[in-house]
Amino acid sequence: MPIKVDTDTCIGCGVCQSLCPDVFEVGADMKAHVKEGADESLGCVDDAINSCPTGSLSIE
Ligand code: SF4
Repeated sequence: MPIKVDTDTCIGCGVCQSLCPDVFEVGADMKAHVKEGADESLGCVDDAINSCPTGSLSIE
């Protein structure tokens, strides 16, 4: 179940990275990205999805 970041609506606030730094990082483009090889089953993923202020995170 891959995590999807909607880069059209992501504002690069860094909340997801703060809550779940093993999975998310905000790049130089000021958009969140899922780290290569990240364990997407970590519990903090749900926290990040629920805390994203723009609703840009989802699980496909
Ligand atoms: S919490 Fe949402 S808006 Fe903020 S950087 Fe992460 S995906 Fe983007």
